[in-house]
Amino acid sequence: MSTKSREVLYGSSIRASAERAKEARKVADKLAVRAWNDRMLGYQGPAQPSPTIGDALNAGCGYLEVRCLGCDTHQTVALDIIRRPKTTPVHELERYLRCKDCSQVRRYPYKRSHLVALRSTKISASDPPSTWWPGER
Ligand SMILES: [Zn+2]
Repeated sequence: MSTKSREVLYGSSIRASAERAKEARKVADKLAVRAWNDRMLGYQGPAQPSPTIGDALNAGCGYLEVRCLGCDTHQTVALDIIRRPKTTPVHELERYLRCKDCSQVRRYPYKRSHLVALRSTKISASDPPSTWWPGER
C-alpha cells in the first residue's frame, strides 16, 4: 500500500483525533486554572500544586496576579515573557517575583509576595484586581 492511499484511508481520522486531543487539553487546562484560582481566592492557598506556565498560557491566562506584602498593591506578571521553562508550575515563581517600588525604596530586591490568581488580562480600570471571596479571612 502506498503512503498516499494510507493518507486517504487514515489521514482525516488522525487529524480529527489530534484536533480533539488539542481541544481536550485546552478544556483540561482551563479547568485546572479555574480550580487553582478558586482555591487561591476562596482559601488563599495552598498555592501548591499549581498549573504550569504552559498550561496557564494554553488556557488563555497570560498573567499571574500577585499581591506585594510590602506595599499591598496587586500587580500582574506576563507569563509569556518569563524566562523559565513552560513546565514550571506557577507557584514556583513566587520567590522570584520582585516588587519594583519596594526594591527601590529598600535598596535591595524585595521579593515577599502572595500569589492571588491567574488571569487573562492585565489589571486595569475595567479589569480591577481580584478580591478574595467574602466570608474568608
Ligand atoms: Zn511592593
